[in-house]
Amino acid sequence: MARIPNDQLERIKTEVSLVRLVESQGCQMTKQGKDYAVCCPFHDEKTASCIISPKSNLFNCFGCGAAGSVIDWVMKTQGVSFRLACEILQKDVGIVTEAKPVKRSTTKNSLPP
Ligand SMILES: [Zn+2]
Repeated sequence: MARIPNDQLERIKTEVSLVRLVESQGCQMTKQGKDYAVCCPFHDEKTASCIISPKSNLFNCFGCGAAGSVIDWVMKTQGVSFRLACEILQKDVGIVTEAKPVKRSTTKNSLPP
């Protein structure tokens, strides 16, 4: 399997809205100025300390230190590999280079254990 070209990675990171992705997973977001706060799916918490920035399209959790791009978010929330996360997101952006069936699990709202 060919590796994913850098320009495609860049497109995924910039064109897939992290806010929309998080929303589609059923996470409750609260607006905080220009950013959004969400209860971190990566550690147990009752007050939202995971900040999502629509501007940089990155997340950053002040509770557990989880941070990254849409690709990291998908990898962590869905427990998939970097490559699979890219493929899931590529479909979102519409960059489909090879017709390969990838099971989408974004319809599920449940978080991994
Ligand atoms: Zn966290």
